[in-house]
Amino acid sequence: MSISELDQRHVWHPFGQELAAPAPLPVVRAAGATLFLEDGRELLDLASSWWVNVHGHCHPAIAQALAGQARTLEHVIFAGFTHAPAARLAEALVRALPRPLDRVFYSDNGSTAVEAALKIAFQSWRNNGERRRTLFLAFEGAYHGDTFGAMSVGRSSGFYGPFEDVLLKVRFTPFAETWLDDPDVEAREAAALAGLDALLERDGRRVAAFIAEPLVQGASGMRMCRPQFLRAVCSRVAAYGISVILDEVMTGFGRTGTLFALEQAGVTPDIVCLSKGITGGFLPLAATVASKALYETFLGPDFSTAFAHGHSYTANPLGCAAALASLALFETEGTLARIAAIHQANLRWLAEAAGLPGITRPRALGSIAALNLGGEGDYNSALGPMLKARFLELGLLVRPLGNVVYLMPPACITPEELARAHALVLQVLRDASPLYAPR
Ligand code: PMP
Repeated sequence: MSISELDQRHVWHPFGQELAAPAPLPVVRAAGATLFLEDGRELLDLASSWWVNVHGHCHPAIAQALAGQARTLEHVIFAGFTHAPAARLAEALVRALPRPLDRVFYSDNGSTAVEAALKIAFQSWRNNGERRRTLFLAFEGAYHGDTFGAMSVGRSSGFYGPFEDVLLKVRFTPFAETWLDDPDVEAREAAALAGLDALLERDGRRVAAFIAEPLVQGASGMRMCRPQFLRAVCSRVAAYGISVILDEVMTGFGRTGTLFALEQAGVTPDIVCLSKGITGGFLPLAATVASKALYETFLGPDFSTAFAHGHSYTANPLGCAAALASLALFETEGTLARIAAIHQANLRWLAEAAGLPGITRPRALGSIAALNLGGEGDYNSALGPMLKARFLELGLLVRPLGNVVYLMPPACITPEELARAHALVLQVLRDASPLYAPR
């Protein structure tokens, strides 16, 4: 039986309506920014394979580090044991993050990084004897993953209707979206901050933690905000004693042009969540990095104040070895300079795209470029699946979020590959414009 037949018979794929979804495409190999399909076709990976790939597929330096680690220590229980890759990676992450972030708690994926962060922030209040802080605060449109805590703070994304009755108590504050040449951003930010002030006045002392995707909300349509807006929100929140969690699961590891988005935002959180690009896209691994002050609230004479949380594959040595190799590549390959060049090319491309009718809100940061077809982002727009199919026909892996088309290539993409992608995407948008541009 073929791979496709076996898959169709027994596999349940994520995030899709299986009844209507086109058959998944078998991929046999990948290199650089290219995926090679079983039927001989090639696809340029402009989604960095669900936002995880950093330096290109099957990068030999990461592959080599992994192979060496696999022959030395593949895995060991992390309760009561440690190993070099985990200790070295923790040190490297703490060195790369702002000062108060000091303790690395490992898990497996973006959702568990967020889940651990929410639990750490919440329990730390309990450990301090404060029981009134039972709420969380998040941005409207946020997405933080699919486990229960993460769904709760991301419920305004609209993905989790069936679970509404069993989610945590969360307040939502407006996200002041912006884009290139946006004359009204200050008014939008002022309105959002006024909304937040009123919310904090009412509920601020009952909120345990605020969580945000710094500078870019990924899943809700690559919505971007200005650093000063995020700073203003975080300082208002912190004034109420609320712990600040930055979810850098998507924005981390160079995606926004700096190693972490918080560097550009100028915000120092109490906790940061990392995953996706942490291993360069090779293996599932996550880190929840907490401040020393938060960590110390868990220290005590007995188990009652301990963090009773852990996963079987916590700090998997293969994942940690891949992460160390990926971090080293940022130096040896000048990854951030490559991303800066992608950004410049994206800006030129967006300037051209913005001249087409119906294309709105062009925006770019780091290796991310995005635009809307028509107005406001709409995840349920039928344009998404239709355009995705057309992009695939042209050899491009581009996964629009409804009517939001975005590119997020790995840093290794060559200028020629990027120019080809830009030209083809523009052509598709031109051809489809009767579907979204007013005549
Ligand atoms: N946080 C953010 C900002 C994300 O974009 C994602 C995934 N798209 C997650 C958390 C969840 O990560 P995972 O899919 O690895 O659980």
